[in-house]
Amino acid sequence: MESKLVVALDLMKESDVIEMAAKIGSRVFAIKLNWPAILLSGSRIIRDVSRYSRVICDFKVADIPNTNSLITEKALEMGAWGIISHSFTGHDSLRAVIESAGDMKVFSVVSMSHPGSAEFINPNTDRLVEMSVRAGASGFIGPGNDPAEIARIRKMAPGKIIMTPGVGAQGGKAGDAIRAGADLVIVGRSVYTSADPVKQVGNLNMEIDSSV
Ligand code: C5P
Repeated sequence: MESKLVVALDLMKESDVIEMAAKIGSRVFAIKLNWPAILLSGSRIIRDVSRYSRVICDFKVADIPNTNSLITEKALEMGAWGIISHSFTGHDSLRAVIESAGDMKVFSVVSMSHPGSAEFINPNTDRLVEMSVRAGASGFIGPGNDPAEIARIRKMAPGKIIMTPGVGAQGGKAGDAIRAGADLVIVGRSVYTSADPVKQVGNLNMEIDSSV
């Protein structure tokens, strides 16, 4: 069975990112790169990590449409498989990402896994899902530590890919997120700080496989 695990490599040293990608790349669905890795190494790290695995650019794009297009075009040019965009900036901003994405998947953030998300984003999840479906997003980022909320988003958006961080360091369990309806589970710290990341990836893959 193909892995449903996306590993977030939020490491602050370029050689650590590449070394870890080489070790685990063939055992995961994708590697997610966020601003820490990009600010450290520049966008070429997207191309370098793509040698080992699909790459999802977690840019949480949140600007005016023109700037969003420029950011998205760069991710596409460097060979990313997917890009994560905010949606609270509205339909035109999200559309700019989707229109510039070529064959990249676009994931819209509709809920976050940290406490502050309860202030503004989570009260608007339903509207963000509805607008993102209308705009043509490929899928959503939902809270991996809140299975009931994943299940609700699953119902609102059949056929869309749900990807959930919040597993491991933020308290969620990979198996629970998959059973609730997530398609892909994002795990960062609990893999890359583990004494044996390859073994940890194997354990997570087994946990996920036994929950489907
Ligand atoms: O280390 P940890 O497993 O908590 O990493 C989760 C990753 O997912 C981080 O890269 C974080 O930026 C990202 N993320 C998140 N919550 C969201 C969207 C992305 O934790 N809603």
